[in-house]
Amino acid sequence: MKITVMKFGGTSVADPEKIQRAAERAIAERRKGYAVVAVVSAPGEMTDELIALAERVTASPDDRELDQLVSTGEQVGIALFAMACKARGANAVSLTGPQAGIDAVGAAGRAQIRRIRTRALLKHLREGRIVVVAGFQGLTPEGDTATLGRGGSDLTAVALASALKTGRCEIFSDVKGVYTADPRIVHDARKLSKISFEEMLELAGAGAQVMQARSMEVAERFGVEIHVRSAFHPQAGTWIVAQEDLMLEKAFVSSLALDKSEVRLTIVGVPDQPGVAASVLTALAEGDIPVDMIIQSAPSHLGVNDMSFMTPKNHAVKAKKALEGVARRLRAERVDLNDQVAKVSAVGTGFRHSPKIAATMFRALAEQRINIHMISASDLRVSCIVDFADGETALRALHKAYGLSKGKK
Ligand code: ADP
Ligand code: ASP
Ligand code: MG
Repeated sequence: MKITVMKFGGTSVADPEKIQRAAERAIAERRKGYAVVAVVSAPGEMTDELIALAERVTASPDDRELDQLVSTGEQVGIALFAMACKARGANAVSLTGPQAGIDAVGAAGRAQIRRIRTRALLKHLREGRIVVVAGFQGLTPEGDTATLGRGGSDLTAVALASALKTGRCEIFSDVKGVYTADPRIVHDARKLSKISFEEMLELAGAGAQVMQARSMEVAERFGVEIHVRSAFHPQAGTWIVAQEDLMLEKAFVSSLALDKSEVRLTIVGVPDQPGVAASVLTALAEGDIPVDMIIQSAPSHLGVNDMSFMTPKNHAVKAKKALEGVARRLRAERVDLNDQVAKVSAVGTGFRHSPKIAATMFRALAEQRINIHMISASDLRVSCIVDFADGETALRALHKAYGLSKGKK
């Protein structure tokens, strides 16, 4: 049995017409002789709307109950998708994550897939059904449905492709593939024909939501090649593959990302002493707060310095509280929160040997008179924090400065 795993994101099933078109895609694949697993997300913005609804009931919803609520979004998606298949004469069945045998562990809202029991799923496939699986969810040992982190349907699809040993996974979205930058912001962005798992992981981590970062780790580990393509056009999209298959010695920028989902926190006036950074980070770690950049300023003549971090907006309140606690203990001056920031990043390979890549970024931002708040750099990525209002201008300026537009390279 040859199996195809096809994932349709929220943008591809945003309304009844789109659901019908997506179902037709799955049926066409079935008619080509493949057994089809369609992983489906919550239609459109339903996940965001459900979270907003919960926040109107309480400012800090209980994690388990929030998962109970948001996991219904995917259930809407799969039921409608399977109905559309059946209405077109195709045999189909919708399954929630737990019904599909997806076992998860870990905290609500960011559970991890532990294993997939494929028996029931394979039986449906053998009997000729298109199996429509809810993305973004799994069954915990406690019998609860837990979600897999935002964008988690990508992870469901990759994990299913791995468990079913298909070797590849088709990701359908509202874009034609992975571009040199978000094509909604940079209109002359170029579609990449291939990108490595490593670069895509870095790009996703830098805020390009086209693929979930965690799904890239699984894809790389289990050798699942990913084809990101349009749900509305038939052309080939972008293949995400292992590094060896790509051009060697690529010491240049392949793509850019803009992340508007984080805030900057600064603990001002901490004593310049051993153990201070450990206390600050321990406070954040105890609260399970993700931190992206850690910058410590040089000590002032008063023997104090500042420490700054980036953290996701939805962790901002908790992070600030944790830092205020540690600030009191360390007798620091205060904790500042700036939510009017954005992060622009250039992703590629070989940056370590090429300071020109960072220099080009700083020059392009300077020419736009954009001030840089924070900088971080690695072999694969350079990121700058800028004012929120400057984010899109910065992205367009960098795209030009690195010569990434259509027709170039
Ligand atoms: P889906 O609903 O299919 O999961 P997402 O909204 O999660 O879709 O991801 C697709 C979106 O990712 C696109 O609409 C686009 O705006 C955004 N995006 C950001 N960076 C890129 C990029 N480099 N290439 C393609 N799309 C990108
Ligand atoms: N619906 C979930 C989200 O919006 C999962 C997904 O779309 O991948 O994050
Ligand atoms: Mg997505």
